[in-house]
Amino acid sequence: MACRVCHNPTIEQFLDLGAQPHCDSLLLPKDLAHPEPYYPLQVCFCHACTAVQINYTVPKETMFEEYLYVSGTTQTLRTHFHDSTERLVSRLGLKANDLVVDIGSNDGTWLACYEKHGLRVLGVDGARNLAEMANARGVETWARFFNAEVARDIIAKKGRAQLVTAAGVFFHLEELHSVTEGIAELIREGGVFCVQAISLAGMLRYCQFDQVYHEHLTYWTVHSLDRLFAQYDLEIFNADMLPIHGGSMELLVAPRGTQAIDPSVEKMRVEERDLGCTQIETYRRFATRVGEIETELMGILRDYQAQGKKVYAFGAPAKGATLLNTFHITTELVQCAVEVNPLKVGKYIPGARIPIVDEKTQDVPDAYLILAWNFLKEFLPKKRDYIMAGGKFIVPIPTPVVIDKDNYDQYA
Ligand SMILES: [Zn+2]
Repeated sequence: MACRVCHNPTIEQFLDLGAQPHCDSLLLPKDLAHPEPYYPLQVCFCHACTAVQINYTVPKETMFEEYLYVSGTTQTLRTHFHDSTERLVSRLGLKANDLVVDIGSNDGTWLACYEKHGLRVLGVDGARNLAEMANARGVETWARFFNAEVARDIIAKKGRAQLVTAAGVFFHLEELHSVTEGIAELIREGGVFCVQAISLAGMLRYCQFDQVYHEHLTYWTVHSLDRLFAQYDLEIFNADMLPIHGGSMELLVAPRGTQAIDPSVEKMRVEERDLGCTQIETYRRFATRVGEIETELMGILRDYQAQGKKVYAFGAPAKGATLLNTFHITTELVQCAVEVNPLKVGKYIPGARIPIVDEKTQDVPDAYLILAWNFLKEFLPKKRDYIMAGGKFIVPIPTPVVIDKDNYDQYA
């Protein structure tokens, strides 16, 4: 496959997570009688532009038309979007009637935050179920996959945007070049694009290999995004790190020459270089560390199994499917996954076929395997009583640890 960013014809594979099913295609009880489709999950590095990417694309219609990840479900995300809104409105001087377009707008959680500022908002999301939820709450949302054609339709109906946002979607883009072209067109008259995406630097630092799944086609750094944006006469003028999702970057992007470049951009480039993000050797070491996590985690889980103890997964996020399926963890080691998202309860994690049950009605196990480790700070205080009573949290990433009553304070 050619590089998704620069079209360099050869990219080098450094991590093979095997064949896996699509992580969000949860199974219904009736699906268990049949095999499910598996697709290769292999991660590659482009020596020409340094972009990290997977080399197989599950069609976006398979992955996103009916989508189960709902932004409004977690308090951490609601707070995050509220804070992002206040920061952007103030930093960019947005005023009443300015147009904000959110790409991959999910259930409209972020756009709803602009209401009190009197801004016009439009969401675009290819997931029909989410677009319906957003429209029902009064956030106008088009159930389409954003691309250059959608951008032209927006300009025709609403005019150009002062702000275009993409939170947790910029790594999803099958039509990467058409989307970027559309963004450039939408903000051509002095607008700004704000992209929030998982930071590859953070993934490397904390060995977050489970952020790799079929929905994440590209893993971004300022370096690789520079190469993409330059093709559309855009440039990054501000770079921040946010704590969400285990470390995300927030980049502000504008048509070249329209904004002063903040020193934060060069600072992030230097940090990436120091971390080795532009070197293949760094990625080969990352692959070795994944093997070490497997050995340690499987040791812990097999100990629990040998002692006849119960382990439940805490949460059933997409990244959990990657971890379970990479290490071939099934119900022998983890009997079920407890969830609060009603769209997931009653279904099964693909591949591993672990049942997802309602957290409120399920009994408590001897230990929880924390799959949504990015929300650990939110879960831990809620489960304080459980841990003080002898319960355990097994946290797999960056290095497997067991949190119990003795070391609770260290992690809370
Ligand atoms: Zn490339």
